Amino acid sequence: MNTGRNMRHACIYARVSTVEQEKEGFSIPAQLKMLRSYAKKHRFNIVHEYVDSETARSTGRTGFNTMLAYMGKHDECSVILVEKTDRLTRNMADYLEIDIEKSGIEIHFVREGKVMSRNSSPSDHFIQDIEIAQAAYLSRNISSEARKGMKAKAEAGLYPSFAPLGYLNTDNESGVKIIIPDPVNTPLVTQMFQIYAEGNTSIKEIASKLYSLGLRTKKGNRVSNSTIHKMLKNPVYRGKFLWNGIEYNGKHESIVTSSLWFTVQDTLGERSVEKPKQYHEFAYTGFMKCGICGCAITAERKKNKYSYYHCTGHKGWHHGEPSVREVKLDMQFSAFLRKLKIEAGIIPLLLEWLEKDTRDERKTPKEARARLASQRKRLQSRSEVLYDDRLDGRITLTRFDLKDAENRRELELIDEKLASLEASALLDPLTRARGILELNQSAGRLFVKAPNAEKKPFLENLLSNCTLESGSIKPELQYPFDMLQDTNKAWMASGAVSSDISAVHSLWHPERNSNSQKN
Ligand SMILES: [Zn+2]
Repeated sequence: MNTGRNMRHACIYARVSTVEQEKEGFSIPAQLKMLRSYAKKHRFNIVHEYVDSETARSTGRTGFNTMLAYMGKHDECSVILVEKTDRLTRNMADYLEIDIEKSGIEIHFVREGKVMSRNSSPSDHFIQDIEIAQAAYLSRNISSEARKGMKAKAEAGLYPSFAPLGYLNTDNESGVKIIIPDPVNTPLVTQMFQIYAEGNTSIKEIASKLYSLGLRTKKGNRVSNSTIHKMLKNPVYRGKFLWNGIEYNGKHESIVTSSLWFTVQDTLGERSVEKPKQYHEFAYTGFMKCGICGCAITAERKKNKYSYYHCTGHKGWHHGEPSVREVKLDMQFSAFLRKLKIEAGIIPLLLEWLEKDTRDERKTPKEARARLASQRKRLQSRSEVLYDDRLDGRITLTRFDLKDAENRRELELIDEKLASLEASALLDPLTRARGILELNQSAGRLFVKAPNAEKKPFLENLLSNCTLESGSIKPELQYPFDMLQDTNKAWMASGAVSSDISAVHSLWHPERNSNSQKN
């Protein structure tokens, strides 16, 4: 037996970065599982496993510090296995506590497939430094964490979103969000399936019948035709659910039998489990408004190769606005974002004010949440119009499927962003302030790397509004990025030397400064 003989000793470090994920309880087990299997595969003997969770109150570095102390005393253990960069470190300072040169510690970033050690090349170190500097704070990163959390939730059989009609969201005894049958609406939903399965009632008739029986939306309104149609196709009622186009087995109680559900699908004449069709992804549709008439800017594919953007012209006010190639928009946005970068000299000052500001009033999440809520509402009404268009034969089935898939995807994105907002609202003010600054400083560089599907959500983190006129974008920054720019400009104008905090203060809080100080 040679167990452990030629095996190297390693510590595992797992960390969860938000209260939300800790509560859901998915991230840590998933990380541990991955790290253990990596250790097994690469013949590491796991000496200890350290786990940290950051909550709103504590920064959660206990495990990390214990691990460093242990490794300091045990030379035979010099390897740390960690999922990825932002698990290891919340900021530069933490990273510097591990002096790779001096300590001889070797860190394996398992997901990124990277190893940092004394033998790493200087360029590896450089890349690592950059990645660490921008790690956990970016809202994009937080959003992908939230997405991962929701996927893990789906895999565990838990419906990851707002409860569909007939169910209610609630917390189970261990605080995990689940869905349960809604005592009021559940019998009506079951009845809806039964009536439709008989095959001689149209969707419109079902909608009126259910209204008379008392079925209402969460706000107490009549349930629309399109919602009825979607409900009939929704596998959630037979105990499954779709998430990102994948069907999962739910742990929730089914309220329709499988055989009844499939009878309904036959009656509907289409299989609801089929995957959404492939479609070309436009980066900026539904993002900009025409600078002349205010209509939406839409996109189309030409020669099956180029994406062009132009005003829908629904109001018919103007002609002759040029169509703009998507690459041109890419260039304009990245040029705009690169210019956001703030001079190094003013950063400490801005950080201080940002921190104070996020502490004072949690403005950003509140406004962003309201914006997302209204986007969600708009999307839902758009999908109802779409359905009515289909019912009345104004659009083809292919076009309906395409648009419907687009809407669904957008809705999922909105839900993800709402989840990530909740997560970021729980971060402490300094962490959030750093995140905002990091995002501001690296926006140009990150945007260039973003895949098409990520561009719009990325820009929505920064911009409140954007119009297109004569082929040029006119973006408006949202709070607090607008304030950062104004302050930076004022500071540059003052000769970039002033360290007078009150000058910055008056820019950030003119109304308070004119009066006597609050607090
Ligand atoms: Zn227009």
